[in-house]
Amino acid sequence: MGRRSIDVEALCAGNRTALARAITLIESSRPQDRQVARELLTGLPERTALRIGLSGTPGVGKSTFIEAFGLMLVAAGHRVAVLAVDPSSARSGGSILGDKTRMEQLSRAPEAFIRPSPSQSALGGVARRTREAIRLCEAAGHDIVLVETVGVGQSETMVADMTDLFVLLLAPGGGDELQGVKRGIMEIADLILVNKADGDLRATAVRTVADYAGALRLLRKRPHDPEGWPRAMPVSALDNSGLEEAWQAMQDLADWRRETGILAETRRKQAVQWMEREIEQGLRTRLNADSQVRALLSDLRVSVANGDIPAEAAADMALDRFLSAPVVPQTP
Ligand code: GDP
Repeated sequence: MGRRSIDVEALCAGNRTALARAITLIESSRPQDRQVARELLTGLPERTALRIGLSGTPGVGKSTFIEAFGLMLVAAGHRVAVLAVDPSSARSGGSILGDKTRMEQLSRAPEAFIRPSPSQSALGGVARRTREAIRLCEAAGHDIVLVETVGVGQSETMVADMTDLFVLLLAPGGGDELQGVKRGIMEIADLILVNKADGDLRATAVRTVADYAGALRLLRKRPHDPEGWPRAMPVSALDNSGLEEAWQAMQDLADWRRETGILAETRRKQAVQWMEREIEQGLRTRLNADSQVRALLSDLRVSVANGDIPAEAAADMALDRFLSAPVVPQTP
């Protein structure tokens, strides 16, 4: 057996080493690995998990929360997988979310599986590998998949586009804090958890929850929400308070979306959306792999910048050149 062959039987039986190796395979960008990865992903059993997206700025308590929440779920008989989408790893190779000391107890639980963000050259690449990793975790029998991301840039939208529920973790704070939360992220959040609702911060946290609840009521009603959603609640990842209630709320929302068919419909839409993204990315990759097109493009960039050729005409020229002799990407 080759180095990259994956023991699908072990993977589906819940073997963590097999799962880790399968994820390493799908993270590889070598064309021959992509081929094996595609076959692997196509042949997986139809198992599914509740996919939960979780976002929050650095320091808000994501790892502390996931550790406590994950341990609670494991104690209740669930098998939890935690994946990360880290835009900083895409940019610099460094990582906000990736270090190994995070979630130490959870990572030791045999029912849990934790995987840091893949390092890719673009956020799109990180997100697409994570989406495939979700499917592998599901095939391995994890019934809850948490996808964690940091509150910067586009990463939240990408994570929301691959999950069933989106949870936003926030710190206790006054009105200024509320101003600072981007409207866009409020619009994709299903559940806002104000963390650190303990000790001296408890009272502030409860007030902050009321502020966010008020702000959420002002948002346009979304068709995929039951009455009274999105919601805001206080939690403390440090003393475990509010975690049961938060989990109950997530289950209530997921149950409602499942029963109304909204969950299945969302997944259908997400799948189509990802196909479109794959096509766009794939075209770009192939375009860049074509040396003739690359040479033409570098000339065209100068001509377009100088105003010699209109941008649209230049794009057509590049595409025409590519379509007349497309090439498949080669191993770098
Ligand atoms: P992350 O960067 O979002 O992953 O945040 P961490 O989980 O690393 O937590 C950042 C800091 O906040 C650490 O010092 C934690 O101990 C602290 N912290 C996390 N959750 C809580 C909480 O519920 N209450 C309090 N008081 N501190 C917390």
